[in-house]
Amino acid sequence: MTAPNAARSFQPSTTHVFHRQLQHDLPVAVSGRGITLTDSQGKTYLDASGGAAVSCLGHAHPDVLAAMHGQIDRLAYAHTSFFTTEVAEELADVLIESAPQGMSHVYFVSGGSEAMEAALKMARQYFVEIGQPQRKHFVARRQSYHGNTLGALAVGGNEWRRAQFKPLLIDVAHVAACYEYRDRALDETPEAYGQRLVAELEKTLEALGPENVIAFVAETVGGATAGVLTAVPGYFKGVRALCDRHGILLILDEVMCGMGRTGLLHACEQEGVVPDILAVAKGLGGGYQPIGAVLAQAKLVYTFRQGSGLFQHGHTYLGHAVACAAALAVQRVIQRDGLLVQVQERGQALQSMLQSAFGAHPHVGDIRGRGLFWGLELVQDRASKQWFDPALTLHARIKRQAMAQGLMVYPMSGTVDGRHGDHILLAPPFIASETELAQIVTLLRRSVDLAIQDCY
Ligand code: PMP
Repeated sequence: MTAPNAARSFQPSTTHVFHRQLQHDLPVAVSGRGITLTDSQGKTYLDASGGAAVSCLGHAHPDVLAAMHGQIDRLAYAHTSFFTTEVAEELADVLIESAPQGMSHVYFVSGGSEAMEAALKMARQYFVEIGQPQRKHFVARRQSYHGNTLGALAVGGNEWRRAQFKPLLIDVAHVAACYEYRDRALDETPEAYGQRLVAELEKTLEALGPENVIAFVAETVGGATAGVLTAVPGYFKGVRALCDRHGILLILDEVMCGMGRTGLLHACEQEGVVPDILAVAKGLGGGYQPIGAVLAQAKLVYTFRQGSGLFQHGHTYLGHAVACAAALAVQRVIQRDGLLVQVQERGQALQSMLQSAFGAHPHVGDIRGRGLFWGLELVQDRASKQWFDPALTLHARIKRQAMAQGLMVYPMSGTVDGRHGDHILLAPPFIASETELAQIVTLLRRSVDLAIQDCY
């Protein structure tokens, strides 16, 4: 028998951690501080992706740790059917004070997929309550990711993730996302491209019968499917107007791009649109605790209140006190330290560093992003924009090289019309210094070059 505190040997073949079965070479993370993680061998890694765009304040932030300890000492958990807690009330107040116009309430969950499930059900129940139960379709976008639970997976457009579960998924119509680099025609202005996409959406709504549609679902800035996909000017305004014309709700998924990641608290502020339902998660709790939230327009909440009197949904850990304390501390630090302005300024610095390192790189077709949220799209040939052979899994090779260099970047395989392309996503903590950003870019350039050399 092993002594309780004996050092455990992590033999790849003997792991009982399910998610590690196919990833035999994962190092063992033992500590984190600032933007750096350290493994059991003492090797350090610069966290250039905040995990998966999560760790917005980096690791071991003293204010967040203190808030969590304080909360654990007082009360870790109280079920929401018996109690509310001061900390959940306070966090909801903070979120509503800074929410897009008209939002009145926050529904707390434990992560991004849960936020999207709640958003979809909230939208459906709204129409049931107002006497439009025939509305049963969602329309979403092909290059999108909304989570891995069945509802969220259904609205997501990532074919690779959906394929084997398709027979279990609710029927969702998918339209093109805003993917300017690949889809805007040479003779088309960005505005005209955006309007073309809105017209395509309108055709899809007409085919379904707009009176049968619950909501249009989109990531304000696309994340985990095709690099960082920013919308062209006017696109979301056109979408909002179309939804309004047909009485359809607009659900924006800002699980990845929200809570300051783009330099504004909510990415939709830059688009000049207000959604009916807004889902946030990752940066809300910064990884200190699992927490997500759905922000809802007052009209939904009041409809439920006057109708059935409840939202027909719920989970055991809704509004978990320690999770709320962590998120409250994260949001307070962001406000107190002026981190949104810092994200804008450091984001500009990062953009110019990426431009000098990769702007003329023969295998980087596009560098796109906003704030501290950047994506590189890798191509075999810049002129034709042809991707590398997917069998080479270049994105995974870049991740491996980066980890060997002590750098964490988020690799992605995007899909367009069944073809796969390689992307790298950067989402460094908001506290990253310019020197650390420069280090990240230097290591990334080396990792990309080594991974590409490896392919030939
Ligand atoms: N929506 C978006 C936009 C995401 O990026 C993610 C996670 N990558 C999710 C939903 C799902 O979040 P979670 O993994 O916390 O369930």
